[in-house]
Formats: sequence, structure tokens, C-alpha cells
Amino acid sequence: MGYNSHLKKIFGEERVNHLQSSKVLMVGAGGIGCELLKDLILMNYGEIHVLDLDTIDLSNLNRQFLFRQKDIKKPKSTTAINAVQHFNHGSKLIAYNGNIMDTKNFPLSFFQQFNIIFNALDNLEARMYVNKIALFTGVPLMESGTTGLKGQVQPIFPYKTECFACLPKATPKSFPVCTIRSTPSKPIHCITWAKNFLFPQLFGENDEEQHAANQQGVSDDSDNKDEHQRKPTQQMLNSFTRS
Ligand SMILES: [Zn+2]
Repeated sequence: MGYNSHLKKIFGEERVNHLQSSKVLMVGAGGIGCELLKDLILMNYGEIHVLDLDTIDLSNLNRQFLFRQKDIKKPKSTTAINAVQHFNHGSKLIAYNGNIMDTKNFPLSFFQQFNIIFNALDNLEARMYVNKIALFTGVPLMESGTTGLKGQVQPIFPYKTECFACLPKATPKSFPVCTIRSTPSKPIHCITWAKNFLFPQLFGENDEEQHAANQQGVSDDSDNKDEHQRKPTQQMLNSFTRS
């Protein structure tokens, strides 16, 4: 009676053997990735490759349960893999600390070695990129994402099902704190960081809040949604500076 016996009861011998001989890629080891890596390990996939470009931030620890306070500033990919070793039943684990869109380190041939790709990303650009790779290579893609408290999963079988780009996606108006703090990749991330984080540090929080309140009064007739979305971010950032 091995670890696989209960998996075989559920999925049948043939499928379990297939999982054990499969090589999978998980892109992103953050909020979704921590959950997903645990599941992939419990499913006993043969080889699990984990890729992330980010390091662990204090703000990750409330939900990215594979990470601890001592892991702050360490790469997410390697730390996640170390954290799951004690309940790993023989999956080969490989970590990459890099950007999925870096074609030098991750050319098309890199993706072709996998039976399936799992997306656990936090930004549209990278999700669109991996979708394109899936279409090029024909490798099935399990796409997942979050919007606030809502989560979505979309299985993509290239040219058999709808792909991630088939339906237009709304441009996000707010950014994860870890992105603007640790790995800004666009000018807008730096502007958001300067406005919401640096400005209160330099000139005091009360003034900024007063200013924001005034602005909200003035801009009531324009885009109100933006202000609402900015508020939680501001609160999160404030709690940062106090800790
Ligand atoms: Zn499509």
C-alpha cells in the first residue's frame, strides 16, 4: 500500500500512472501558486517545475502559506519547493528564479518539454504571453487568476477550446502591493509606489489623506471607481509603514 493507493481508488490506475510520468510547469509561486503547488504535490505528478521572478514580501504572508517570516526577501520559487518537500511523495521538483517572458532563458523548446502548463500569475501581460506560448506549442494550459476575492480557472486546449485571449480583458486599475514594492515592471507601478507609499512617508499620512479626501470631493463627477479601488491599497500601505 503506497501513497498512491487512495489516488488510484479515485482516479484509476491508468490515470495515476499517467500523472506520475507527467512533467508539468507552474508559472508563478504566489497566492495561487502556493495552493496549486500543494495540490500538484498531492496529485503526485512526476516532475513539477516552478517558476517565479519575485522574492517574498511581508505582505505575502497572510495568504501565501508556504512562506514564513524568515523567508522574507528569498526567492519564491526555491522557497516554495523547499516548503513542500516534507509532504512530497517522490515528485521531482525544479525551481527557476526568472521572468517567464525572458526568451533567452525560456525559449519555445523550454515549454515543449511539458505535458501541461499551470498559470498562477498576477498580471495580464504574462498570462497573455503564456497563452500565446500554449497556442504555439500546443501544450495544454490551465489558466487561473484572481480579481479581488473572486477566482477563475480556465482549461485551455489549444485550438480545441477558447483561449485566454478569445475574450477581451479589462485593464486592471490597481496593483498588488508586492508588485509595486518589490518588482515594479512598468512606469505606472513606480508612479503608484511614489504616490501611495513614498509621498506619505515624506510628507506625512494625514496631509495625504486630507488631500485625497479633497480630491475625491472635486472629482466626484469623474471616475469615482478609481478612488474606491485606491482606498484599500492606501490602507494596506499605511499598515506597512507602521509595522
Ligand atoms: Zn483565442
